[in-house]
Amino acid sequence: MKTLTRTSTPTHVASALESALQQFDRAADHIALDRVTRAILRVPKREWTVRFPVTMDDGRVEVFTGYRVQHNLSRGPAKGGVRFHPQTDIEEVRALAMWMTWKCALVNVPFGGAKGGVTVDPRQLSTNEMARITRRFTAELQGIIGPNIDIPAPDVGTNAQTMAWMMDTYSMHHGYSIPGVVTGKPVDIGGSLGRADATGQGVVYTIQRAAEAIGLPLQGARVAVQGFGNVGEAAARLIHEAGATLIAVTDVGGGVYNPDGLDPLALKRRMKETGSVDGASGTTPMSNEDLIGLDCDILILAALEGQVSAANAGTVKARILAEGANGPTTPDADPILRENGVVVIPDILCNAGGVVVSYFEWVQNLQSLQWTAAEVNDRLRSVITAAFDEVWQMASTDGIDARLAAQSIALARVAEAQQARGIYP
Ligand code: NAD
Repeated sequence: MKTLTRTSTPTHVASALESALQQFDRAADHIALDRVTRAILRVPKREWTVRFPVTMDDGRVEVFTGYRVQHNLSRGPAKGGVRFHPQTDIEEVRALAMWMTWKCALVNVPFGGAKGGVTVDPRQLSTNEMARITRRFTAELQGIIGPNIDIPAPDVGTNAQTMAWMMDTYSMHHGYSIPGVVTGKPVDIGGSLGRADATGQGVVYTIQRAAEAIGLPLQGARVAVQGFGNVGEAAARLIHEAGATLIAVTDVGGGVYNPDGLDPLALKRRMKETGSVDGASGTTPMSNEDLIGLDCDILILAALEGQVSAANAGTVKARILAEGANGPTTPDADPILRENGVVVIPDILCNAGGVVVSYFEWVQNLQSLQWTAAEVNDRLRSVITAAFDEVWQMASTDGIDARLAAQSIALARVAEAQQARGIYP
């Protein structure tokens, strides 16, 4: 029987970079990685900080700071999202870039890992301000990004429209359309069918597999979701379509609960109208902290890093914790969750659907082809299921948790590529 314990009283929640490095060291130890490869892969290969002025709607000029970090390029061009968030800094972007390297390797797409960001709160910006910041940031990244160099995608605070502005700006500088410079674009300008839902779809595919593995019927399973953006909204809608009952959703503005079931489409309408799901009719309020400890079967974390730490891991009652977000669980929470029998689907596996379909989009762009939505989803399901099975197999053979298994598989692949390429000169 599951015991819910709190094993320590921590005062410090690990930052994203601290988490990423602890996870790296653990996987490097597990695969007995040699000293030189460890030294190369523990740090980003390249990083840029750019500062740029933008004229705001009221005529004021503000100076913004943006980042792009390319963690590793041994398996192919760099790939990773662009985040617009007030707390984004170089350390967070470093961690996210490193996680992208492992994610791309785990699902075996031929990319290295990168991430970018601008320190800004997009909720305070008009559409025109958002466009000007995006375009100027893209101009600052000329020479750093490109279809064969580094291919950005949406992340927190950015979306298909942001990618359209990035693609247009980059193309303007070159004098012709270059759709393959970004993924997650609108379909009309070279986006892939299925990309908008891909990360959430991948989350649901991995949950289906994990539920099968532990004998949990998805039909009627009670699901709670933190975050209702690119990832959380799609995951909530698709798991509802798969027969589960969505009982709670929270976002930055509050949260909603209904033990009889929430309608994800009604929540989406509420979000569009008010900017948050909070206060949707027929629901009672739910805080983020209560959502983490909610009596449910499946908890999907699809907001930000550091949401479950040793301070609250003991309150998790879900049987499956699906990491739709990057780094939502800190390393000190992992042993507590494991001891309590919570099955964690680690981020680099759980949310890899986004980068898998980004890869499909890039391939379609390079070939000027368009695949059908069914083709995209079938291929996504088979790639993510194969990765899931590989992780679960290693976890069982080596007697380790799924996070360590996923990171060990990924790290071994990147290390092999790094070693095959050798040291130049
Ligand atoms: P988004 O900006 O579209 O949505 C983020 C959601 O989180 C919003 O609903 C927001 O209200 C909510 N949120 C923000 N702060 C919160 C807080 N303190 N408490 C509760 N909710 C909060 O972002 P997204 O693209 O959906 O990304 C979410 C996570 O998934 C991130 O960790 C991101 O790196 C990861 N991810 C995204 C993609 C993608 O394709 N967009 C792919 C892989 C991983």
